[in-house]
Amino acid sequence: MEIVFEMIDVLSQGIVEAFKMYGDQILHSFLFYVIVSILSSVFAIPFVRGKFGEYKVHSILSSIVKKNPGKYILLDDLMVRLSNGKTIQIDHVLLSCYGIFVIETKHYSGRIYGKVRSEYWTQYAGNKKSNMYNPLRQNWGHIKALEEILHISESSFQSLVCFSGSAYVKLDDCTNIVLSKDLKKEILSYQKPIFQGGQIREYAIMLKGRDIVDKKERRQHVKNIKVNQELRTFKIAQGICPQCGGKLVLRNGRYGEFYGCSNYPKCKFTEKLNDWE
Ligand SMILES: [Zn+2]
Repeated sequence: MEIVFEMIDVLSQGIVEAFKMYGDQILHSFLFYVIVSILSSVFAIPFVRGKFGEYKVHSILSSIVKKNPGKYILLDDLMVRLSNGKTIQIDHVLLSCYGIFVIETKHYSGRIYGKVRSEYWTQYAGNKKSNMYNPLRQNWGHIKALEEILHISESSFQSLVCFSGSAYVKLDDCTNIVLSKDLKKEILSYQKPIFQGGQIREYAIMLKGRDIVDKKERRQHVKNIKVNQELRTFKIAQGICPQCGGKLVLRNGRYGEFYGCSNYPKCKFTEKLNDWE
């Protein structure tokens, strides 16, 4: 099994490296789009889809870096370990005098509905309904981690969740949400300097120094995420609140029955009943 992972790693790294070198030519070729759309939509391979989204956003961000020499520094696919031992992976960190943009890429299709404050959003792809962890929360965690590493305040960061696919996204508040076609405009709209050039270079060096490059460690991170998701599902099935360990109780709300935490209002965990059918 390890060998298979090793091979997938080598292959995917090869693809990513090829993109970085010949990306512009590849991306402009019609054939490339045909291949990618077949791979990502027909076969729905999440890995390919994820990498494609990350590459698409990478090319937009790197064009900003190239056209504004000395003003922006881009770090892709950053994985760092925190003081509590946890690892986090950030798709893109764009450092600039105007702030540090922390960007989470979601290459999704279908329809996505959610609320900024809720833990999970709902995705409809055809007839299939699934839950996705609120990417704004995910990115908020990334910013907290960067705060810890760089010792700078939250106000120096700009959180952006970038949808790079064809998804229709409907939320109660779209601040911090951007479609890839508007990403460049959004980033260039920040023009108030808050850092000196030397400072952002220092931050970039600090982050690069913390980046985990070991492939085994990187794979372990992916495994841990899966285990945590399974643990969460297991706890809910057992009637235990995955947030505080309290008891889950069945409640009746405006939108039907749902599971709530018995420690409410201290713990605001809820889970829609039909999500677990
Ligand atoms: Zn709870």
